[in-house]
Amino acid sequence: MSRIETPRPIRGTQDIFGPDAEAFAHVVECFERVRKLYRFRRIEMPVFEKTEVFSRSLGETTDVVSKEMYSFDDRGGESLTLRPEFTAGIARAFITDGWQQYAPLKVATHGPLFRYERPQKGRYRQFHQIDAEVIGAAEPQADVELLVMADQLLKELGIADGVTLNLNTLGDGASREAWRSALIAYFRQHHGDLSEESQERLEKNPLRILDSKDPRDRPFVADAPQIDDFLSEEARDFFAQVTAGLDAAGVAWSRNPALVRGLDYYRHTAFEFITDRLGAQGTVLGGGRYDGLMESLGGAPTPAVGWAAGIERLAMLVQGDGQGGGELPADVIVVVENDAVMLDGVGAAAQLRRAGLSVDMIASGSPRKRFDKAVKLGAKAILALNPGDAGTQHRLRAEPDFAAVVDSALAGYRWQ
Ligand code: ATP
Ligand code: MG
Repeated sequence: MSRIETPRPIRGTQDIFGPDAEAFAHVVECFERVRKLYRFRRIEMPVFEKTEVFSRSLGETTDVVSKEMYSFDDRGGESLTLRPEFTAGIARAFITDGWQQYAPLKVATHGPLFRYERPQKGRYRQFHQIDAEVIGAAEPQADVELLVMADQLLKELGIADGVTLNLNTLGDGASREAWRSALIAYFRQHHGDLSEESQERLEKNPLRILDSKDPRDRPFVADAPQIDDFLSEEARDFFAQVTAGLDAAGVAWSRNPALVRGLDYYRHTAFEFITDRLGAQGTVLGGGRYDGLMESLGGAPTPAVGWAAGIERLAMLVQGDGQGGGELPADVIVVVENDAVMLDGVGAAAQLRRAGLSVDMIASGSPRKRFDKAVKLGAKAILALNPGDAGTQHRLRAEPDFAAVVDSALAGYRWQ
């Protein structure tokens, strides 16, 4: 007899279940609450776009475009790509959907993204982000608002301790160009001593060498020219306003002159919230200002700034701190100890849930074991039902303050 093989899951994808799934949902719910406090409007975006949306906005030399995209030709022969990030698609929509009329536009979204990476803890091929963008705002206050929102989110998730906001400026276009040329000249002198990867990056994307984790690059990175020597007065002033705003809002930050974001479109502010509690995958949230992006997609020059955070990484921190997630808690377990009172189980559970309590019913398996099963679930209350002489008899076992809550939720319920 031949056995039928079950298809394996795709490498780098996750089936999220149990406490992991609760922590994931907790992160999203918290983000939804916080983005409303800052009045970011919710948007839903397509999971795929024309490939050029990403190749033109992110830049051909970036890791994402050069080796991480899931691209394919559809049946019409058009090259499409599963989104590796949100920003490019949102910028595309801003132009094609006439969202200019709403500028400055604050939007938020979340969902799956796809990158062909080497899977490991905290790094997947399908992963999920929460994302916030302010489009059409040139003022440093927009950067500040986004950073304060990110900070509040981490605090409300209870994971802000041990997460540091690393902040840098990449200057305006001219500052960034001057710095880039100086970096190329400097790293050329050390060409032979750099890692192969950095040698490759040197001419095309020298900023990325600063990002390198290869020990061979480290000594040269430490002495590399710094952006501060190339900042125009305007760029310097912009950055000063961002840091002053953070101080005013009580958000701690730390300057990291070697922080660069991998994508071509960044200008001025660049930032990452980093923790040492997730090993090598320590960046939980990253973003910055991308004033050059709209033009690369053929739109009018439009200043913008945004960030994205990995939901899986946030959920891992949330669970590590025992801050939420965990197993799904229950207020009341209704135990039908005898099938003759099944309908009262159904009716009472419905009434309790309508009163806003979380309820599960145990009404299957050996009747004698149902109560013990309920005890193991650790709910705040157990309501056990049995047939009695004068109709259904109900017995409530509850935490001291909670018995009254259940009683009042059941008030008016007519037992069969
Ligand atoms: P990294 O340096 O870890 O590769 P990145 O710079 O590529 O991050 P961004 O593109 O800035 O990441 O994405 C923002 C956030 O999304 C990251 O800080 C991280 O939390 C999360 N993230 C990015 N790539 C992955 C992935 N492959 N799996 C899980 N989370 C990811
Ligand atoms: Mg990456």
